[in-house]
Amino acid sequence: MNVEDILAKLVSFPVLGGESNLEIIHWIKNYVEDFGLITTLVPNNEGTKASLHCRIGPSVDGGLILSGHTDVVPVKGQIWDTDPFTLVKKDDKLFARGSADMKGYIACCLAVLPTLIKAELKKPIYFAFSYDEEIGCLAAPELISHIKKTYPEKAKYAIIGEPSSLEPVIGKKGVCYVQTEVNGSAGHSSGIHKEISAIHESTRLIMWLENKMQKLSKAKQDPRFEPPHSTLHVGQINGGVATNIVADYTCFEWDVRVIPTDDIQTIFDEFFEFCKEREVKVRKLFPNFKITNTLLHPPVPALNTKETDDIVALTQRISRCNTWRTVAYAAEAGQFHEAGYQSIICGPGSIEQAHRANEFTTQNQLDKCVNMLKRLIEEFSI
Ligand SMILES: [Zn+2]
Repeated sequence: MNVEDILAKLVSFPVLGGESNLEIIHWIKNYVEDFGLITTLVPNNEGTKASLHCRIGPSVDGGLILSGHTDVVPVKGQIWDTDPFTLVKKDDKLFARGSADMKGYIACCLAVLPTLIKAELKKPIYFAFSYDEEIGCLAAPELISHIKKTYPEKAKYAIIGEPSSLEPVIGKKGVCYVQTEVNGSAGHSSGIHKEISAIHESTRLIMWLENKMQKLSKAKQDPRFEPPHSTLHVGQINGGVATNIVADYTCFEWDVRVIPTDDIQTIFDEFFEFCKEREVKVRKLFPNFKITNTLLHPPVPALNTKETDDIVALTQRISRCNTWRTVAYAAEAGQFHEAGYQSIICGPGSIEQAHRANEFTTQNQLDKCVNMLKRLIEEFSI
């Protein structure tokens, strides 16, 4: 199958983040095993989803992992000109949900399998395909630890094929989404002097977050990123019933995005401490006052690959792109980096098209990526 046919098949599985990916992962498993390879599935506890990994080449240290995710973001509320789960070609463009983010990369990995198995590899190349990336990179930690347990040798590198127009990406911020709920007391607004408004209390917490960002921006900067500092931002707030009723409940959702030298947990610890102080103070007036913080997913670590790491030169050679840059989006690259692999993001298609209506990649990007992977195979061959 050529890369376009494989991509057409992959996008026909409408697997959204959070949903079962068993059909697509079994299709990939069968495809890979038809080449005589052994694959390993890493299921979730319920057995409704699975990641897949396999090794091609000898059991020696220094190998490279090609990593991608099989889930996509929803199309709900978007106006598409074509069926998002059917690959439609118009001129050089290939339209479908996931064509850029990131089934295009997986299609390229699968398309070079015939070359890969014929090559006389001196170091192994691995496939690592996950699920639930789009809802907080949930499957990658388990997949990575399973790879470490399964193979006696140690891989050294990982190329995560998020759409980067095949430009090497060496840095991204760490990220986490948080929900904060505040329970106050209800009553007539004229009695605010004896009530605890959840809205008023929420604004104190939100101002704390904004002040924290100001402090962080002055304390540490990393010029590779735009903006060069960590950010905190409240994106949603709900609460209150009417102008003349004291709000007894609010809920707001916020995100924290840190440069590699800041630590998400440290910021959380400080915020949770502030919440506790407010609780102690306010409970003297209203004992049921409560602030509840919920992490909406485990924090996704930053990617912080050094310009001098071998993976940068290697990726520049095979992609024929001599620059590097950083990005703002979350990706499993941070988790591979944290697990000790020299990691880089480099994949076909543009992030500009990801998550949007009429998402597309181009035949040119796919062909370039196939060539990039073929050059990688050459580099890893005797
Ligand atoms: Zn992605």
